[in-house]
Amino acid sequence: MLPILGVSTTYLLIDMALALVALTIGFFSAIWYQRNVVGVVQNTAAPSGAAPANEPAPEAIREKEAAENEAERASMAAMQLRDLAMNVATEIGEHNTMIADISGNLNNLEEGAEGASSVVMDAVAQMLSANDKLQSRLADAEQKIQTQADEIRTKQSEACTDVLTKLPNRRAFDDAMASNSKAFAGQKRPFSLLIFDVDHFKKFNDTHGHQAGDEVLRQVGQTMSAAVKGEDIPCRYGGEEFALVMPNTKIDQARIAAERVRQAVEAMEVEFEGKMLKVTASIGVAEVATGEDSAVVVRRADDAVYAAKEAGRNRSYWQDGERCRSVEDTATAKPTSSAGQVSETSTQEAVKPVDFSSLPDQAVFSGELHRRINESHRFGAPLSVMYLGINDFVSLEEEYGNAVGKLLLESVAQFIRSTLRDMDLLGKLSNGEFIVMLPGSTEQEAKLVGNRVEEAVASCVIPLGGKNLRLGISQAVTEVKPDDEAATMIARAKTSVNQQVEATAGVS
Ligand code: GH3
Ligand code: MG
Ligand code: MG
Repeated sequence: MLPILGVSTTYLLIDMALALVALTIGFFSAIWYQRNVVGVVQNTAAPSGAAPANEPAPEAIREKEAAENEAERASMAAMQLRDLAMNVATEIGEHNTMIADISGNLNNLEEGAEGASSVVMDAVAQMLSANDKLQSRLADAEQKIQTQADEIRTKQSEACTDVLTKLPNRRAFDDAMASNSKAFAGQKRPFSLLIFDVDHFKKFNDTHGHQAGDEVLRQVGQTMSAAVKGEDIPCRYGGEEFALVMPNTKIDQARIAAERVRQAVEAMEVEFEGKMLKVTASIGVAEVATGEDSAVVVRRADDAVYAAKEAGRNRSYWQDGERCRSVEDTATAKPTSSAGQVSETSTQEAVKPVDFSSLPDQAVFSGELHRRINESHRFGAPLSVMYLGINDFVSLEEEYGNAVGKLLLESVAQFIRSTLRDMDLLGKLSNGEFIVMLPGSTEQEAKLVGNRVEEAVASCVIPLGGKNLRLGISQAVTEVKPDDEAATMIARAKTSVNQQVEATAGVS
């Protein structure tokens, strides 16, 4: 009797072990699924920085709804998996009790008692049948777990894919940046990042419609994928922005890739409802430098995009660790040894005269500020605005005439420009007032720049009509706040200047 019981117990233990494995897989899959897939799709459902919070673009709404549906489906699948694991657990519990009962009966059986052999036979038959039943339940559970695992894999790949372009999405981009940063920190494996922003896309949508815009974005994605090679990872970064993570790539190669991608997009023709549509893009590239985390590389590449926009769009710029430079100019300039180490001659360019008439006006400036505010909200990067006004400009212009007024404006613009970095943007307002955007600068840092401008202008004496005119300016800075819009930031800076001017007038 004991050997029979021993064999059955071995079967039972094997089955129990299998069941536990299946059960563990079930539970862990469910937990993993809940955390990763459901979490991811819920994160994806969060509003993107591409559209203003109060006026989400239709594609943002569609993406949000799709992500919410995904989250619901994922949640349901996770619950099914949990239920399955619970059922298997109950099944094993019942089986266990049954085997214990049978074993108890056999132990109570007196050796040689009448009918003992038929009881044993019966017990064995019950055990075999219970084992068969459990085994088939386990096979069934295993099959279901396999199906769920396949679904998890599909969901995981969907969670990392952009619905419109089918390129890796922002999440995949973040993962690629994280793994490349790790490889750089550990094995010193370099990488470069290219960020790409379609030019005047808002206007494009307004002119040709959102669907045409969507089709263009789809084809931009395809063009970008076709223009890259090897390990490069093209991603949709968000809205009309794309990114290319280039492992094992130094800046010299990244610059070549930037121009290749830019030219491919420039040459692209999209047929939509009988019309041939074209777009251009501005590109920024940067190579990771020692001690930098991925957020800094993104910021530097993004600064280069901004410089490309400012330089007229449809061009590629790169950030060398200190400033942004045109890829085209670099093609003929002295080569650099690595990111952040620029040859001497290239850093010592003469200060270019400011062409006052081409300075952005309030509308253009606000558009650029809007873009930067969105980015700042997305990355948490500081951003400040400085408002400056020439003291008594209106009365000076009245006294000396418009030509002198223009001269004063040009001179002050030159002073301001000479204290700014390439990535800062100087805009002109009316009545002798200027506005400056300082990406990456905190209020404190912006104040230092403001003071420098004030001192530079105060040190300048202009001989006018036999008198020496000493110009003065008033300036105030403000840093971006959550929910800020371009108009609110500009208004806040302007109010601070006015308060200062009033306070100064009160003192004198
Ligand atoms: P810039 O040259 O300065 O980049 O100008 P822009 O108009 O491209 O930049 P802005 O950030 O002002 O506008 C981006 C536009 O891209 C507005 C938004 O509706 C559009 N956009 C973002 N995502 C999508 C999308 O998925 N489909 C369509 N059709 N348009 C999109
Ligand atoms: Mg953009
Ligand atoms: Mg754009």
